[in-house]
Amino acid sequence: MKLKIFIPASLLTLSLLAADSDIDPVAVSWTGAATNAQGEVMLQVAVNTTRAPDLADWGSHAGELCTEWYPKICALLDSEGFVPPKHLRIKFREQMPPGTPAATGGGVMSISADYIRHHTNDWGLVVHELTHVVQDYGRSQNPGWLVEGIADYVRLASFEPQARRPRLHPERDNYRAGYKVTAMFLEWIEKNHDPHFVHKINAAMRAGRYRPELFTELTGKPVDDLWADFIAASAKPA
Ligand SMILES: [Zn+2]
Repeated sequence: MKLKIFIPASLLTLSLLAADSDIDPVAVSWTGAATNAQGEVMLQVAVNTTRAPDLADWGSHAGELCTEWYPKICALLDSEGFVPPKHLRIKFREQMPPGTPAATGGGVMSISADYIRHHTNDWGLVVHELTHVVQDYGRSQNPGWLVEGIADYVRLASFEPQARRPRLHPERDNYRAGYKVTAMFLEWIEKNHDPHFVHKINAAMRAGRYRPELFTELTGKPVDDLWADFIAASAKPA
């Protein structure tokens, strides 16, 4: 019993200490703000490169990218009554779970310093993570593949439309693969069924109203049939 209480309390202390050092103004290497058409501040961004001073320039550019893209992503993924978060901290970590270049939650975008040193041009990663800030689904129970698919949809369809799409593997891919595979599927649905599909499904997800049947209600076809059509269309020579 005592142990049970002790462990969370010490973790809490550690996280509070971490939070304190994060808001230390000396540790902030770049700050900026995203504004709307009326000049009102939509998002304040603070970049902290204390743990990766060699990435200070990269961090400043990432901050600028966020201030440029936040209004665009907010417009893409707006929904009734939704007020997007107003603060974002970007920081670098030397230790991230394996295969995790970045993670975003609670107003903090944590980026693997090691990953960026090997992928200095991966600005799409910043747009993907920034989309998670805008999604702000809170405690809503949404499928992870769709959350990640929408983040990469914004990246692919809006930020880097010219980027090469990954090759599909119909024998092992499916719409629940998430990331770029799901993003390409969403692009295809918008092109062939409903140009506002992502906007609508995002609104439902944010309101905690996501159900798989929404695919049928919005397009007239169940998601499995849509996927089969997508795969058939992708196999045809352009
Ligand atoms: Zn993600």
